[in-house]
Amino acid sequence: MVLNRPGFPLEAADLPDPEPGPGELLLEVAACGVCRTDLHIVDGELDRPNLPLVLGHQIVARVASDGERLRAGERVGVPWLGWTDGVCRYCRTGRENLCDRASFTGYDRNGGYAELAVADERFCFPLPDGYPDLQAAPLLCAGLIGYRALKLVGDGERLGIYGFGAAAHIICQVARHEGRRVFAFTRADDTAAQAFALELGAEWAGDALGPAPEELDAALIFAPAGELVPAAVRAMAKGGTVVCAGIHMSDIPSFPYDLLWGERVLRSVANLTRADAEQFLALAPQVPVRTEVEMHPLERAGEALERLRTGAVRGAAVVVPAA
Ligand SMILES: [Zn+2]
Ligand SMILES: [Zn+2]
Repeated sequence: MVLNRPGFPLEAADLPDPEPGPGELLLEVAACGVCRTDLHIVDGELDRPNLPLVLGHQIVARVASDGERLRAGERVGVPWLGWTDGVCRYCRTGRENLCDRASFTGYDRNGGYAELAVADERFCFPLPDGYPDLQAAPLLCAGLIGYRALKLVGDGERLGIYGFGAAAHIICQVARHEGRRVFAFTRADDTAAQAFALELGAEWAGDALGPAPEELDAALIFAPAGELVPAAVRAMAKGGTVVCAGIHMSDIPSFPYDLLWGERVLRSVANLTRADAEQFLALAPQVPVRTEVEMHPLERAGEALERLRTGAVRGAAVVVPAA
């Protein structure tokens, strides 16, 4: 499924089989998670896609050619971070997520809305047993970047989660496993998302723009709506941290400095490192994280994206090529 032009639907196309370059693996895609970032790319909000582009950066695949480390037949996951230069100041200081020359799966490089893909072997991760292909797919972005965002809030006990989609449904489980209390903030009338959050261990769920039930120590904002930022900062206790976890967000309305005073922190999280991937993929089965997915045939990827846009997806959407 190919994006030829932002603002237009994905189109089915017959592409030549991709050829792995040096250090790359040929992969047979088993499933690919659908991410809010894909929608930002389709809508032109991320404005330098490598067109024509195959989207998809939560790829579950079988290795089809032996590599240095991975062998044909092994199951791997491919995340958003597709390549880094290894030499820039960020790469040299353990921050390859900020690499100046990074290239990203399903944006700079073709991704997993396809039957075949290629990926740099160094950015392919063996997946934990016990997760079928469909259930493993959302671990690769919703899980990984959500986990990186959670690490950035430190050990705050009372955690607000703004927007209860794919990332939130995973990170809620991790946060409960760590002994945190979880408060889920959604659109006021989204009773389905609120019920889902309560099922997954949140102790409260309600209107994101209304008052929080009590002071919070930390918040993760997964919804791309700038008006949530002042709302989340307003809910913070002194010293609390708000992390914006999406790659794109509408403009943030201004708010009084008083809300930030008291060593409250407002920051973003960008991308992931390979260390994040290794840590999270080891942690997920220990929690154990259970992912809820809805499956769409690959040729209906556009419908999956529209369901994500309208908030209709419970958990995560995943596309699967015909067997
Ligand atoms: Zn993503
Ligand atoms: Zn770099």
